[in-house]
Amino acid sequence: MILGNIFMQRGFSPKEVNDWFIDSFVDGTPWVMPANVIGMSLFADGGQMSTKPYAAGGAYVNKMSNLCKGCKFDPKVRLGENACPVTAGYWDFIGNNLERFSKNHRMFQSVSGYKRLSDTDAIHEQERTRAGL
Ligand code: SF4
Repeated sequence: MILGNIFMQRGFSPKEVNDWFIDSFVDGTPWVMPANVIGMSLFADGGQMSTKPYAAGGAYVNKMSNLCKGCKFDPKVRLGENACPVTAGYWDFIGNNLERFSKNHRMFQSVSGYKRLSDTDAIHEQERTRAGL
């Protein structure tokens, strides 16, 4: 979920991500990966496997795991030096797909949350220029 979330947020090629999972993991069985990766993880199958993307920000990662303990980023921060790339990436992803997600009632909360943010331009700019991505 963590890897798929980041790949989806950043717009990686579904085929390349699918192939990478097959090559990288012992349980990356080729016949099952398209459903898991392209469908469930990347939401790139036109909504056949899932009715909404499994997208999340750093707050969710922090709630569901201990990965954020000791991380140099803050999962609650979306702008600046300490901005969590998963949190900022989440809002960048929502904003980049706003028209599409506005038509999906299951994305209502995310779309509404995005529209309430006052710093979306800065988030998009930051994520466009984030080093290494
Ligand atoms: S704070 Fe660090 S570990 Fe937690 S989601 Fe953000 S980048 Fe990942």
